[in-house]
Amino acid sequence: MLIFLHTTASATERAELRHALAAEGARGPLGALPTGAGDVIGVDATAISEQAKNRIANLPAVKRIIPIKTAYKLAHIAANPTGTKVKVGNVVFGSYGAPPVIAGPCSVENEEQIIEAAKAAKASGAVMLRGGAFKPRTSPYTFQGLGPQGLRMLARAREITGLPVVTEVMEPGMVDAVAAFADMLQIGARNMQNYSLLIAAGHSGKPILLKRGPSSTLDEWLSAAEYILAAGNPNVVLCERGLRGFDNHTRNIFDVTAIPALHSLTHLPVVADPSHGTGKRSFVTPMALAAAAAGADGLILEMHPRPDEAMSDADQTISPDTLRDIVQKIRAIHIALGRPTEDAISGEALPIAQEPLSYVFPE
Ligand code: PEP
Ligand code: MN
Repeated sequence: MLIFLHTTASATERAELRHALAAEGARGPLGALPTGAGDVIGVDATAISEQAKNRIANLPAVKRIIPIKTAYKLAHIAANPTGTKVKVGNVVFGSYGAPPVIAGPCSVENEEQIIEAAKAAKASGAVMLRGGAFKPRTSPYTFQGLGPQGLRMLARAREITGLPVVTEVMEPGMVDAVAAFADMLQIGARNMQNYSLLIAAGHSGKPILLKRGPSSTLDEWLSAAEYILAAGNPNVVLCERGLRGFDNHTRNIFDVTAIPALHSLTHLPVVADPSHGTGKRSFVTPMALAAAAAGADGLILEMHPRPDEAMSDADQTISPDTLRDIVQKIRAIHIALGRPTEDAISGEALPIAQEPLSYVFPE
């Protein structure tokens, strides 16, 4: 069940609602999602009687309640039917402008490398920098990242280029340390269902890039996002990065269909990662273009000034020239499809030529 609150609801009225929900047997953290139309609370209402629901609907804080059967509530498109915009510095995901591109190496390798990569990313049209300092590697014998030193190098690259930074956090105890340097925290595919990490990310106050687990359904993924939202953080961006398949021709199966499917299920912006999605450099451009055409709200691409020398994921790492080509082509796709042509960088209201969100409230 979703409970929409009046924007004018006082603290006393909100407290009265929370007491009533707890007394009637509502399950869930009762976290409120702020939206342009007021706060929304999600609850599992299976234990609440119809009479009790009516009592709740008539409390002064409550504008309306609607039943939501899915395991996730606040992530459901009905919670914010006009879509959630997530701002990272001056970059906006979910603005309907041309999709912003995040680019940078898989790993921060040294200060010169990340600064060179950041400059190349900016010059090629990317608006955010990526780079892993803490790396979840399959083998313990491979490069594990520079850890805290890598975070400081990312901050230096941001200082020089002005690009906001996204980097991975792998454990709840490190969230504050990573959040002190990063503009956005990445929760990697392997950690999508690390619930204590999701809750810590929810408390961090930073925008979160939540990657899809390699064998996760959309329901599982949106339920993982729900943990972050319910912990009080509305700034979640989903990232499709491919699924484990049976054919090793590509590293993963890049699920382009997930993009329009998510736009019908959730109000959260969706970013695509064709680098991990394909695992092969030559497939990154076609899949980046496919994702943009499918309605992705952004792309994240592994790019290195000398791709063959990358210390991790070299096979899927593109050059600055390829990045520039992709940025230009996705802008052309955006225009060809009749979407607004503004760059998603200002955060100001944009004309909506195509409205992908189409939730109709039940009567
Ligand atoms: C990465 O972004 O470098 C990464 C490890 O991604 P994923 O979690 O999608 O494998
Ligand atoms: Mn990588």
